[in-house]
Amino acid sequence: MRRAADAESAAKNAMKKTENKTEELREQLASKKVNAFHRYPEKVRTAAYAFAEDYKDFLNASKTEREAVSYAVAAAEKAGFKPFEAGKKYRAGDKVYKINRGKALILAVIGAKGCREGVRIAAAHIDSPRLDLKPAPLYENSEMALFKTHYYGGIRKYQWVAIPLAMHGVVAKKDGTVVEIMVGETADDPVFTITDLLPHLAQEQSQKTLAAAFTGEDLNVTVGSEPVEDKDAKEAFKLRTLQLLNETYGITEDDFLSAEIEFVPAFRAQDVGFDRSLIGGYGHDDRVCAYPALRAVLEAKKPENTVITVLADKEEIGSEGNTGLVSKYLDYFVAELAEAEGIPARRVWAKSTCLSADVTAAYDPNYASAFEAGNACYVNHGVGVCKYTGARGKGGASDCSAEFVAAVRRVFDEADVAWQMGELGRVDLGGGGTVAKFVAALDADVLDVGVPVLSMHSPFEVIGKMDLYATYLGVAAFFKA
Ligand code: MN
Ligand code: MN
Repeated sequence: MRRAADAESAAKNAMKKTENKTEELREQLASKKVNAFHRYPEKVRTAAYAFAEDYKDFLNASKTEREAVSYAVAAAEKAGFKPFEAGKKYRAGDKVYKINRGKALILAVIGAKGCREGVRIAAAHIDSPRLDLKPAPLYENSEMALFKTHYYGGIRKYQWVAIPLAMHGVVAKKDGTVVEIMVGETADDPVFTITDLLPHLAQEQSQKTLAAAFTGEDLNVTVGSEPVEDKDAKEAFKLRTLQLLNETYGITEDDFLSAEIEFVPAFRAQDVGFDRSLIGGYGHDDRVCAYPALRAVLEAKKPENTVITVLADKEEIGSEGNTGLVSKYLDYFVAELAEAEGIPARRVWAKSTCLSADVTAAYDPNYASAFEAGNACYVNHGVGVCKYTGARGKGGASDCSAEFVAAVRRVFDEADVAWQMGELGRVDLGGGGTVAKFVAALDADVLDVGVPVLSMHSPFEVIGKMDLYATYLGVAAFFKA
């Protein structure tokens, strides 16, 4: 009996040894996917949740690119940043900002080495999908006053009906004055909405495809139902709206010709879940990366190399125009810094590196087939890193070189940044792009990083608080490296 027991225990030991060895091998060789809640001690979670409170304030105050610029400039001035003066010789530690037409912003802290070894850039965008007004928006139909809209960016149109909308924007008048409008953000403000068909009468609509059931020309915002006093007045409902707009803002119908008015969801950013681990809100894409990039540059203390955060406009429509990153404003800004140090800008660009901080898709268990689980980003697994974006065989991607990916891996790991790598979704299902390729076109090394988002481009996007914080830690570490 004794010998049999010995043999059994020896076999058990041998098995355990093999198991231990396998574990050891796994530990040494295999990738680990760790939830950030497990990765970090309690104090990091506390810091992340505190950071999330500041972020929600930013998000609520920044529903348009112009509002995001105003918020960032106020925060920058408080942190000692001064308007950038071209031609001025700056010294290490100097903090400057440059506004581009009220809709984009560059912030920089001059490094100890200046820009002779390149600059470190974090690029995020502050425009989000929304409904813009057409130039002649106001009309009446069946005793209702309505606004025609032209959607901006990639929206799923059905998501924008039957929700409360707020009106934000500016009207530029011929006399040079600019009237700011914001309606729908306080408890006693009215809101606006696009009506939807009742299910009782939706049988025909329900047979259509999603794309055909909701068209751009259907996205008309209800703005009133009260006529002017005169019973015989033509277009009495449209006229009543014009009367109210004139009384409140001093504008006429023609002033809409030179306006930028955006209709955005009227609700505020709010914690999601019993544990409050998520935030739901409008415009996480890409303010959830813009805010960490802003905080990182505001807090940059005497960096080695000059650090720059650029908050760009127009990413959602291809980074076009003079406030999008196809424009040369970032190139020119770096050229000004370079020239002040007596270096050709092209030499600075060739040594520069950039994190293109933009959101990526979070793996959604409700739509698992849209993802490839082994190459997806997961909520609260940290900042998502994408080597390439693009569609149909990486078309339009700025495929980051392996060497620069390795450099960022090292920076993130040394600073204990929770990060993960993933693709946007299943191959050939769709795709997307970021500002990465426009910065890469300047001869810099650029890698896409950002917060994974659920319900991206919807009126109520959802992100994980640990990912928000990890993105901040990541950009801050990149600026210090
Ligand atoms: Mn984006
Ligand atoms: Mn987007």
